[in-house]
Amino acid sequence: MTTTGTRLDHTGWVKQAEHAELLTEAFFGGGFVPARAGRTFENRNPATGTLLSEVDNCDAADVDAAVRAARAAFESGVWSRAGGQYRRQALLRFADLLEEHAAELAVLDSLDMGKRTVDAYELDLPFSVGLFRYYAEAIDKISGEVAPTPPGSLALVRRAPLGVVGAVIPWNYPVDMLAWKLAPALAAGNCVVLKPAEQSPSSALRIAQLAAEAGLPDGVLNVVPGTGEVTGRALGLHPDVDCLAFTGSTEVGKLFQGYAGNSNMKQVWLECGGKSANLVFADTDDLAQAARTAAFGIFFNQGEVCSGHSRLLVERSIHDEMVKLLVAETENYQPGDPLDPASGMGALVSPEHTSRVMRYVEAGAGSAEVVTGGNRVTVGDSDCYVAPTIFTGVDPDSAIAQEEIFGPVLAVIPFDTEDEAVAIANGTQYGLAASVSTGSLARAHRVADRLVAGTVSVNTVDAFSAWTPFGGVKASGHGRDLSLHALDKYTSLHTTWISL
Ligand code: NAP
Ligand code: MG
Repeated sequence: MTTTGTRLDHTGWVKQAEHAELLTEAFFGGGFVPARAGRTFENRNPATGTLLSEVDNCDAADVDAAVRAARAAFESGVWSRAGGQYRRQALLRFADLLEEHAAELAVLDSLDMGKRTVDAYELDLPFSVGLFRYYAEAIDKISGEVAPTPPGSLALVRRAPLGVVGAVIPWNYPVDMLAWKLAPALAAGNCVVLKPAEQSPSSALRIAQLAAEAGLPDGVLNVVPGTGEVTGRALGLHPDVDCLAFTGSTEVGKLFQGYAGNSNMKQVWLECGGKSANLVFADTDDLAQAARTAAFGIFFNQGEVCSGHSRLLVERSIHDEMVKLLVAETENYQPGDPLDPASGMGALVSPEHTSRVMRYVEAGAGSAEVVTGGNRVTVGDSDCYVAPTIFTGVDPDSAIAQEEIFGPVLAVIPFDTEDEAVAIANGTQYGLAASVSTGSLARAHRVADRLVAGTVSVNTVDAFSAWTPFGGVKASGHGRDLSLHALDKYTSLHTTWISL
């Protein structure tokens, strides 16, 4: 962890929250700009139900103004053609500022969307800060190529920035999703227009302000808050956006492919939903550890994780023991006030989303057995909380085993053979992540090879890092965030051929 500072207790976080500054206007061309039509949307804290702020709802004209600001900055060369060392220094200063303001930003995310503040502070913020440093440091360490062309010619191949990158992100990890897109896109020399999720605009607006303070030139980073149907759509359809990087649901991801086809054929990169399977074999060395990671894999962040391991496939001979261990683990994930580090989970993002999760739970209860949880929980004045829920005897083809619930709901499915386990694991429309627990090295490789997913974790769950690519196949999308490979999305290969 790179973020330092004393560990705050509940009272400390409550005080920090009382001082939270909730910004509401769009940020482009170097400053805050109110939405032209004056429309706003409500930003509520799901943990309490209170209204936090009325945020500007940017329409197509606002998006156009932000894209123009980004285009002007790009064409001026102040960022795109500045030396790599200059961009590196600016992004390192930016990372330092994010680190200095980590507690403030963690509180903003927690207030906006309900996650445990301590997780935002101890996990999300250090990861984002590290990511900006990783890509800043990469800038002056990657060289182009001299191609092996015939004598009498010289061909230079280099990575060129694309121009204006649009980024549209979800609410489950507001700062991290922003960093996953912005850090490589900016490092590559692009200018960015970001639309944060409607439920979590506050940290992105503050971060735009910090970017300016760090010395990023005007127009390099722009943020347009607003609704998906208006602001997101306008960015997707804009004829002067060169590339659109999206993280969110599969349903909306498909819309962005349509927007590109109906406008300028911009590149579209999609990180979409998932229904990750966690396969636990009877030869697992440490079943208690497997249960701990399985519980983390579905209950962390209220289960609002794209790569959340919402299906647990257990070999029949250890099924009952594993379920017993898992039920015991749910003690660590009981919902409570997100500002209190003692709470096991925070609030779900909204009353509507909580109701959607509960509809899945109620439908599941018709055919499978609820061994723990299954109920909505009230904390203070809000009922945006769901108890950690485990279903057993789940039909692999039922809705709770096929559809992304995006809540703390686990479907346990028994299997008898390795082939059967792999077939069930691969039997959804998704392919984002999967995990395997086994004491056999041969089985680990065999099964990992056969699982259709961007990342397979062995004897842990949902492993990811700055150094390894993250993303999916099938309806989970394409393209990769994180690692040096993410730079591929934000650059084009530019060849200069010289006849000698
Ligand atoms: P979402 O509804 O797809 O929204 C994602 C973003 O798209 C938001 O900014 C949203 O704006 C915008 N949007 C919505 N409708 C749109 C439209 N018609 N046109 C243009 N933009 C539109 O997803 P979410 O509910 O925020 O987040 C949960 C989903 O994200 C889950 O499916 C999860 O798996 C996925 N996710 C994937 C990854 C990954 O890396 N693969 C990571 C995290 C989350 P509004 O906020 O106004 O709706
Ligand atoms: Mg909110």
